[in-house]
Amino acid sequence: MTSYPATLQMFIDGEWIAEGEAGTMAVLNPATGGVIGHCPKASPAQLDRALKAAGDAFPGWSRTSGAERHAVLRRAADLMRERAGDIAKVITAEMGKPRAQAVGEITSAADVIDFLGEEAKRRGGRLIPTRGNQLIAQIVTHEPIGPAVLLTPWNFPVNLPAKKIGGALAAGCTAILKPAENTPASAQMLVQCFVDAGLPKGVLNLVHGDPGPVAEHLIASPVTRKVSFTGSTAIGKQLGALAASHMKRFTPELGGHAPVIVSKNAELERAVMMCASTKFRNAGQVCVSPTRFLVAREIYDRFVAEFARYASGLKVGDAGADETVEMGPLAHARRIAAMEQVVADTGGNRGEVVAGGKAIAGSGFFFEPTVIANPAPDSRFMTEEPFGPVAGIVPFDAIEDAVGIANSLRYGLAAYAFSANLDEAHYLGRALRAGMVGINQLIVSSPETPFGGVGDSGFGSEGGEEGYLAFTDTKLVMMAKAGG
Ligand code: NAD
Repeated sequence: MTSYPATLQMFIDGEWIAEGEAGTMAVLNPATGGVIGHCPKASPAQLDRALKAAGDAFPGWSRTSGAERHAVLRRAADLMRERAGDIAKVITAEMGKPRAQAVGEITSAADVIDFLGEEAKRRGGRLIPTRGNQLIAQIVTHEPIGPAVLLTPWNFPVNLPAKKIGGALAAGCTAILKPAENTPASAQMLVQCFVDAGLPKGVLNLVHGDPGPVAEHLIASPVTRKVSFTGSTAIGKQLGALAASHMKRFTPELGGHAPVIVSKNAELERAVMMCASTKFRNAGQVCVSPTRFLVAREIYDRFVAEFARYASGLKVGDAGADETVEMGPLAHARRIAAMEQVVADTGGNRGEVVAGGKAIAGSGFFFEPTVIANPAPDSRFMTEEPFGPVAGIVPFDAIEDAVGIANSLRYGLAAYAFSANLDEAHYLGRALRAGMVGINQLIVSSPETPFGGVGDSGFGSEGGEEGYLAFTDTKLVMMAKAGG
């Protein structure tokens, strides 16, 4: 049973608004394919109200002390923890992940909000020594950049908005959140935590609608000073071009196709279990999901067999109806079509599907946990981000060859390696080209650490002090004695 909100709403200038002047869009439960709600779509006039609210609230919020902002953010984080059970049910209903994963998402989002709120109290500037006698101070500060537009996807419908909201509000910015079309209630419940924490009117606004026109309207507005986007590389490039044409600061967190190098020196049993269980978390719909497994030839056959056995044994189903389900559906029907295309092109006769490989018949958008052994270098799988429950495993002979394959794509979000040899582990940590590298484990995210990619995976970071600084402008004050 889910307690899905009876009414889906926007939040503009301190007011909940159920009526979308541009109509409504249906929200589906991906586990059943059934409609669970109707979401209002903002008209250009409603978007302008949100922009005005964010613009009007900015002078007041940006002048609050870090301690005041921290107090509100900490209350919001506490409310998220208190409400985690209810919010988790909504996440599961909207995008299908099992409840335990949804609760984990919410509590880690609360930790991020806490950390960024604390950063508002900690973050000072710099006093730089002067060269001559005439100057007495060179002071560097970090000023809130202005109203921010936050565009977020559906795979972590609370955590990704929370990272952006936390950074923006902690730094003293106001914000307009436009969440994914298929997860509006998750965002609504998150925003409600900030409202109930006492956030002043206009500081945080929530709008819904068709992503292209809404993003274009919000980015083009002179009110907007910063755009933060998480989503695909293709859309990130479009939005980056638009932001640049209006001279807006832009942080893109985009796709990835994370390689995992498993050396012959790795602890095989541990590595294969960690790799297989992490790969299918969130049905593989994770930008840092380990996906291209490059395994030393000496251990390749055992790795493939164990991985395929794990994948074939996973319980797939409607996680909202059955708590023992380990992997839920994909987010929508388009993802099923995308998986079918990936599996159809494994590279001629070379690649072999050793587990799964098909959509699961019946209602909902389910795809079997899938393992492709030895996909060809030019196959669709090896060159395009699958963003779903499909893993590929490729043997290698020399560790340098594995690094070459790992670094061969334009993506550079996360990369991982397993080796119990210290020299090799250090070499791999240095040689892998990615914004985040995990060695002997598959976690590259914590509230205190920066999260972001290089190359086609984007630039800039969320989380850590970088997640706060992303919403600031650097300002210098050079001061001389009056009268020289
Ligand atoms: P999609 O491109 O239709 O949508 C992905 C997200 O981008 C949605 O949240 C959507 O609201 C937003 N979006 C789409 N068009 C937009 C536009 N013109 N302006 C602003 N926002 C826009 O794809 P999908 O099938 O829903 O998702 C799969 C793809 O999205 C994958 O290729 C994956 O790389 C990417 N994705 C990445 C992340 C991530 O964490 N980096 C998260 C979710 C999706």
